[in-house]
Amino acid sequence: MNNLKESVTAVKGIGKETAEALSEMNIVTIEDLLEHFPYRYEDYRLRDLADVKHDERVTVEGKVHSEPSLVYYGKKRSRLTIRLLVNRYLIQVVFFNQPYLKQKMVINETITVTGKWDQHRQVITASEAKVGTYSAVKEFEPVYAVKGDITVKGIRRFIQLGFSQYGQEIEETLPEHLLRQYRLLNRKDALRAMHFPLNEEDVKQARRRFVYEEFLYFQLKMQALRKFEREQSAGISQAFSLDKVTTFIEGLPFPLTNAQKRVVDEILSDLRSPYRMNRLLQGDVGSGKTVVAAISLFSSVTAGYQGALMVPTEILAEQHAESLKSLLEPQNIKCELLTSSVKGKRRKEVLQLLVDGEIDVLIGTHALIQEEVQFKKLGLVITDEQHRFGVGQRRILREKGENPDVLFMTATPIPRTLAITVFGEMDVSIIDEMPAGRKAIETYWAKHDMLDRVLGFVEKELLKGRQAYVICPLIEESEKLDVQNAIDVHATLTQYFQSRYQIGLMHGRLTSDEKDQVMKAFSLNEVQLLVSTTVVEVGVNVPNATIMVIYDAERFGLAQLHQLRGRVGRGSEQSYCILLADPKTEVGKERMKIMTETNDGFVVSEKDLELRGPGDFFGKKQSGLPEFKVADMVHDYRALETARNDATLMIQSTEFWNLPEYKSLRLYLNETGVFNGEKLD
Ligand code: ADP
Ligand code: MG
Repeated sequence: MNNLKESVTAVKGIGKETAEALSEMNIVTIEDLLEHFPYRYEDYRLRDLADVKHDERVTVEGKVHSEPSLVYYGKKRSRLTIRLLVNRYLIQVVFFNQPYLKQKMVINETITVTGKWDQHRQVITASEAKVGTYSAVKEFEPVYAVKGDITVKGIRRFIQLGFSQYGQEIEETLPEHLLRQYRLLNRKDALRAMHFPLNEEDVKQARRRFVYEEFLYFQLKMQALRKFEREQSAGISQAFSLDKVTTFIEGLPFPLTNAQKRVVDEILSDLRSPYRMNRLLQGDVGSGKTVVAAISLFSSVTAGYQGALMVPTEILAEQHAESLKSLLEPQNIKCELLTSSVKGKRRKEVLQLLVDGEIDVLIGTHALIQEEVQFKKLGLVITDEQHRFGVGQRRILREKGENPDVLFMTATPIPRTLAITVFGEMDVSIIDEMPAGRKAIETYWAKHDMLDRVLGFVEKELLKGRQAYVICPLIEESEKLDVQNAIDVHATLTQYFQSRYQIGLMHGRLTSDEKDQVMKAFSLNEVQLLVSTTVVEVGVNVPNATIMVIYDAERFGLAQLHQLRGRVGRGSEQSYCILLADPKTEVGKERMKIMTETNDGFVVSEKDLELRGPGDFFGKKQSGLPEFKVADMVHDYRALETARNDATLMIQSTEFWNLPEYKSLRLYLNETGVFNGEKLD
């Protein structure tokens, strides 16, 4: 056993009580202690005040310029003020509750002070002062998260003790050639630099090393999982006819974009391979995922299998069924719709045809995963908008065939950084190109008090014979309030437009029949203006709708706004999206601006991720994001990609599984349980 795995009590100077307090912070072994990293550093370098921002901490050296004045208020509270000449600046320095400093402050003496800079009032509120010229013992001092009885000073000392007594035991975990290739510090030096940096470069290099290490470990686990899952689940090798597929593609009403061609190739090679496909297909709204789904289903059917397409709502199921029928039925492929509104005799019939293999492609909602639905020979399962389905539902569907290939489609552009972490065990295909000739949607941001002008603008579109969506405020906690909002907005607009236009109302409390009726009326232009909650978010296609107004836009995630906005801009006319929002914060304003500046879903989501952080991006419920000690998925995304590539190559190489320099990485994989208890070494 490595000595670093011993309890912290083995360190001379750490007793039982300390060990107990440390264990509250999840520090049990010496290794835990040494890997308790600072979350920031106190920076004691001298700086020019001209470069210091308001409220920043700063250390300066200057000459005392006035007699100190000391004021007491209350028994123990005092304020000591001096004027200090720092280069050309004359500033004030204030010390609270440190009256004893008074006699040290002698006019014309040089002192060094550290504190918070109030740029507006030209005052430093100092926490520390040293008489004499600047001579920092340490330019950077680590600051640690602490808990209970442990203080920052205390943990600094314990780490110092641990390092001096056990530092020589720290072993390298990464293979030598990687350290050389990326010029990374070895583990021991990196730990030293992390805890006891001499300068900024030390901090930077220590961080670089651990960012890479953390990402590599994480990616190794993901890639190992992927390999293991693949090998465990022999899939089916679908022998489709490439000729037929090519002819089918050539017969489409439009040529595929390059991005579509690329993802089709990726999917086809998965279908052909004996492994089970486990692929995520990402493409912005309108990027043309449906036709990719159709080609995949076509291929699977020509290989003698059945396919299934599962979507989250009935409206969407019907739309997909329609478009797939128009593409596939001319090829003699039988498509059928199955939702909960297919009932009675008709339902029995569909189910029978399905078991008999008379239906080639089944399209539906979660009704597809019910027990009674049995396929004859299911080869390919596609889910659209996969983030709406639970993991459990996806598994049930997969289990309906003999390890069918699975394709998850999503229009929520997941930033690359998150895609390769959260979906690290999946293959990812991206359609990052729009079909030619699309008009970009123009997006504007207006304050709520401009509603009248906005409605005037809407009416102009309506007068041209176009249709409009009005999306109501989102109240996540309460569907009831959501619905109430929609009803209120509907009333307001009915008042405004009088009987000039038909105004429809759509929300989550309508039955699916009612929803269907509303949607049908809207798509037939019997209704010109549709007031709706976010239920229209997914997939709905009414090309004549050219304008969307979104109330309280600041309450929505940017990715969601982008999804909503994708309901317009589906025809040949110029389309508009108007965000009504009075954001209170700078970040809120920034978010609205981003929406007005770009139509690229990936840019939107990357920005959103930057502004809100990964946890908020996915929402609290389903974050499931890995936690890193040092690394930051957003800012260190390059390292993340590098680590992913390295991990992928390693897992596939024979060296990794055999050579001694990979041993600690292999041991790590053993510990993660990726191999279901099977040990490697
Ligand atoms: P989404 O990715 O949002 O599901 P769709 O598959 O609904 O997008 O495609 C949006 C529209 O673009 C559809 O009307 C479709 O027929 C059309 N489309 C798809 N691919 C192309 C292409 N390569 N060239 C021209 N139009 C295309
Ligand atoms: Mg779609």
